[in-house]
Amino acid sequence: MHAPPSQKSFIDAQSRGADHIAPDCAGQNFYAVDRGLRDLLRLYLEPNDFRRLEPHFDRLGALAGGRLDELARAADKHPPVLNARDRFGRDEDWIDYHSSYREMEKIAFGDFQFHAMSHRAGTLGMDRPLPAVAKYALQYLFVQAEFGLMCPISVTDTSIHLIRKFASAELKDYLLPRMLSDDPATLWKGTQFMTERAGGSDVGAIETVARCEDGVWRLSGDKWFCSHADGDVALLLARPEGAPAGTRGLALFALPRLLKDGRRNAYRIVRLKDKLGTRSMASGEIRLEGAVAYLVGDAERGLKQMMEQVNLSRLSHGVRASAMMRRCVNEAMVCARSRMAFGKTIIEYPLLRRQLLKIAVPSEQSLSMFLFAASAMDRANAGSKEAADTLRILTPLLKFRACRDNIPVATGAMEVRGGNGYIEEWVHARLVRDAHIGVLWEGTSNINALDIVTRAVGKSRAHRALEAALTKLLDEAAAVPQVFRKRLRLALDRTLAFAERVAAEPALEEDARQAASSLYHITSAILMTWEAAQPGADARRVLYARFVLEHRLSPQDPLAPQAGEWEREAAEIVFGERQVGLPEIAGLLS
Ligand SMILES: Cc1cc2nc3c(=O)[nH]c(=O)nc-3n(C[C@H](O)[C@H](O)[C@H](O)COP(=O)(O)OP(=O)(O)OC[C@H]3O[C@@H](n4cnc5c(N)ncnc54)[C@H](O)[C@@H]3O)c2cc1C
Repeated sequence: MHAPPSQKSFIDAQSRGADHIAPDCAGQNFYAVDRGLRDLLRLYLEPNDFRRLEPHFDRLGALAGGRLDELARAADKHPPVLNARDRFGRDEDWIDYHSSYREMEKIAFGDFQFHAMSHRAGTLGMDRPLPAVAKYALQYLFVQAEFGLMCPISVTDTSIHLIRKFASAELKDYLLPRMLSDDPATLWKGTQFMTERAGGSDVGAIETVARCEDGVWRLSGDKWFCSHADGDVALLLARPEGAPAGTRGLALFALPRLLKDGRRNAYRIVRLKDKLGTRSMASGEIRLEGAVAYLVGDAERGLKQMMEQVNLSRLSHGVRASAMMRRCVNEAMVCARSRMAFGKTIIEYPLLRRQLLKIAVPSEQSLSMFLFAASAMDRANAGSKEAADTLRILTPLLKFRACRDNIPVATGAMEVRGGNGYIEEWVHARLVRDAHIGVLWEGTSNINALDIVTRAVGKSRAHRALEAALTKLLDEAAAVPQVFRKRLRLALDRTLAFAERVAAEPALEEDARQAASSLYHITSAILMTWEAAQPGADARRVLYARFVLEHRLSPQDPLAPQAGEWEREAAEIVFGERQVGLPEIAGLLS
């Protein structure tokens, strides 16, 4: 049916107006458009695993750019609501979620079974648990659409890990079948309540008390930050009566939401937090009123056991930051290639391209870092001590730096879109809001930087395992001009010496973040160089490595021009459509 002339001209004018507005990523397949991810999964996964899992990466990539993205947008607009009592006045607190959140849960826990994929066979058609590389790649794709729900997904996964590793046979028999279920309707999801008013970073200040009566542990206290507040099984730390003060006296407990007879356990969600970001997911405050809990593992090693969950969460947080940065790159590129200003698409302007590099390079760094960390986890799980040591330092490095980078990257991508980026209809506002939590939960930037320098370097000497791994990769990158590899080697030696010095001299504690950042940058630069040198890989990764070397690991004069001729050529290649090989790039590496 034709529209009447007057209405038609109105419609024409409207669609002409819409032409001026740059599109977003709606409808993209986030796997198909991600050259870096596709290439690197071939490098970091066994060929058989890659072949079997690629259809799932592709399917999730399409969902993330499509239905999942629509659902995430709706869930952000309709945050969860706490009901304190039922209509009879009973303290049956429960949380209502929007239907969009429930549909996302079905995709995550039912279809992909993120929570179980590391723990049992049978997810995504695999006859064994998925390798860590595949799990984190799937998290990366999911979070490009939805960030908030990844908290309950990941914390269920990591709670299962703790129960499997430390719980008694009886507790495992009780909890694991419920927590590993593939039916979202009956599944028991996990969560972690650690932080109290007295201490987030200072865990030893925890005041929650555990009392054992007739063989049953009962907990009393107040947990101040409880994400996924209505999780079915919470892992938490409490101090058994008479245990010493500080972290030594903390024991690990599993707190079920429902008792064995089906009644509600004796704790209450007092209120939900009104948060800057992660709005789709419920974070609350919990009051424990003599709640029944099960001791997990050794009562004197509570924090040590809990740190396994914290470290797994830290790795996942790095992956989530990487995912959000990738979404920023995707959005910024779509916009930059179509938005017109002063008669040209904005990507044609050198100054804008420089801004795009500041979005793209940290994103690519984090991709290499998390895949390398995940492959170290796979090797560590297979028994490699070197890989376990490498993972020890990679985990806080990724958490610290990727989460920090996510903030300027999100703001930068918003700026590329201009004023529309500030409007809540577009994804950027959510990306900016969500980016900030990464530097807070599971250890702030300072806490992670101190963990890297004081413990991973100073105590565990894990940087030496990292050095050995990076040396091997540099040797294997023989296709890259030697002059560039030598510069990387020199930067690696200087970084390691710097980190050791900061670890050894308490007066240098203020340099912990600088040392941690340098370790992250040199590691990612060497990884990207090695990756670029592999047959069939995207050679442009070595250009990202040079940007890191020049801008993060070399002296800068703020009063001299920063962008050399090589940078202009490199930007042309990075943002060009042309496939390039290492020989064409070699001239830009000296
Ligand atoms: C939305 C949200 C959800 C959360 N969900 C959970 C959850 O599910 N479970 C849970 O257990 N916790 C959760 N948390 C809590 C979070 O992990 C803590 O907020 C975080 O660990 C910081 O603790 P804090 O708030 O007590 O800050 P503090 O520890 O008081 O830190 C304040 C500042 O002091 C700095 N600082 C502290 N110690 C040192 C030091 N030694 N050297 C230098 N600087 C230092 C910190 O870096 C920070 O900048 C959540 C927080 C938020 C915001």
